[in-house]
Amino acid sequence: MTETSTQSGGRPSLPMQGVAQPSREEVLHLPRVYISSHPVMAHKITALRDKNTQPPEFYRLVKEIGALLAYESTTNLALEPSPIETPMEPMVGQRLAGGIGVTPILRAGLGLAEAFRDVIPDIQVWHLGLRRDEDTLQAMEYYNRLPHKVDLQVAYAIDPMLATGGSAIDAINVLKRRGIPRLSYVCIIAAPYGLLKLSQTHPDIDIYVAALDETLNDKGYILPGLGDAGDRQFGTF
Ligand code: URA
Repeated sequence: MTETSTQSGGRPSLPMQGVAQPSREEVLHLPRVYISSHPVMAHKITALRDKNTQPPEFYRLVKEIGALLAYESTTNLALEPSPIETPMEPMVGQRLAGGIGVTPILRAGLGLAEAFRDVIPDIQVWHLGLRRDEDTLQAMEYYNRLPHKVDLQVAYAIDPMLATGGSAIDAINVLKRRGIPRLSYVCIIAAPYGLLKLSQTHPDIDIYVAALDETLNDKGYILPGLGDAGDRQFGTF
């Protein structure tokens, strides 16, 4: 996380506190930001948000939405020619050129990672654990299974909720240090504040969002949102 301010009592405040948050309209047309307009996506996200949706169904929906996001966020992947023989005759088909990596930000990103694997089974999954330090509010890396030898055409950092943008920005910083040529960030719900921060800090990445919400509350939760995406997936209330 790049910013830390302090409240009068000495306790650090959330980055967006005391700052006017941008509106939805202000971030709708940011460069390289893609917000889904698919009706099936909207339908599934409504079920996901519903407070009566229980963890097993919630996790199933995260995976379904994740598969749609995987599909939408891979439209520009590079292909290479691949000669094969069909039962009828030889032909030159196409295969994805180069490896693809997905970095779920733990733990809430795990459901989306499963979905990406369902769509592209030979994707590499690089787990990254980022936790906010309660005192400094800096995002701290507590788990990192990124390989040192990297040969990918693209990597996706994935997390269901883009709230203040702190962990998203840090995850992209970590991936940039690995020298991957193309990076994307994928989330289910974004707040305008976090989306603007991420886009301004990393203007060279693509950002895929399933739904753009209204604002953040004073605890950094997205409104109307869906609550805590990790707790709702894993039943830890
Ligand atoms: N993380 C969540 O799980 N939910 C929010 O609303 C914001 C961050």
